[in-house]
Amino acid sequence: MDIDIIELSERKARFVLSGVSTSFANAIRRSILAEVPVLAIDDVNIYENTSVLFDEQLSLRLGLIPLKTDTQSYVFPEDCNCNGVGCTLCRVSLTLSAEGPKVVYSGDFVSADPKVIPADSTVPIIELKEKHKVVVEAIARLGTGRKHSKWQAGVASGFKNMPVITVSECDYCGKCEEICPRDILKMEGDKIKVVNVIECSMCRLCEGECDMDAIKVSSDPGSFVMTFETTGALTAKEIALEAAGSIKKRAEQLSEIINAL
Ligand code: SF4
Ligand code: SF4
Ligand SMILES: [Zn+2]
Repeated sequence: MDIDIIELSERKARFVLSGVSTSFANAIRRSILAEVPVLAIDDVNIYENTSVLFDEQLSLRLGLIPLKTDTQSYVFPEDCNCNGVGCTLCRVSLTLSAEGPKVVYSGDFVSADPKVIPADSTVPIIELKEKHKVVVEAIARLGTGRKHSKWQAGVASGFKNMPVITVSECDYCGKCEEICPRDILKMEGDKIKVVNVIECSMCRLCEGECDMDAIKVSSDPGSFVMTFETTGALTAKEIALEAAGSIKKRAEQLSEIINAL
């Protein structure tokens, strides 16, 4: 297996994964979406709400605010020694107290753990009019996207096969260069050069335009261009490591079960 990193920033990753099956690439994609644990608001105690939103609507909005997560400091409620009752290892409390007129943003939350704060401070929650008031305590717990999308750390996770473009003898009419919407094909003297093939959408417009049947678009069945973004709860690197770790852990569990038979 080979990994070639194309882009790695705080919130986005793009890499080429080679020498693996489609099933493995898909397992990575699914693991990024469903198996990476992050904190999300799971319970809300509403002490006062005279805003235009019902309590339920307000709670739903709060649940969808991504929270920066320190996965080393928290455990799943079901794995905690407190048996899910609630302690500092399995839950963190965030409070919000605001009075109108003002727009309340995610950054107005005050967290009991300074490391667990909204990933973006500018997510608008509600617009409070004169004398409207909201006082809540939100309880965040660790979970995964498998249970609910509010715990989904990775977003827009997908992959495609690595495109392969070959150009054989042709008359260099340049029609393929003209029609390519992604500027993959370039006329260089009496040659057609393929540039930045990773961006090819495999639309095959170039093939259709070529009267000489000289250009062929195919894909490498064992090489994949993987892409995903993050909500900001974890960095792209942390998500990739957690997702791969989850697959490894489950493979080991399966191996143990089979060996015990
Ligand atoms: S369209 Fe076909 S013949 Fe024309 S330059 Fe492209 S590959 Fe060559
Ligand atoms: S398949 Fe589409 S995107 Fe790819 S080189 Fe041909 S025209 Fe361009
Ligand atoms: Zn606990």
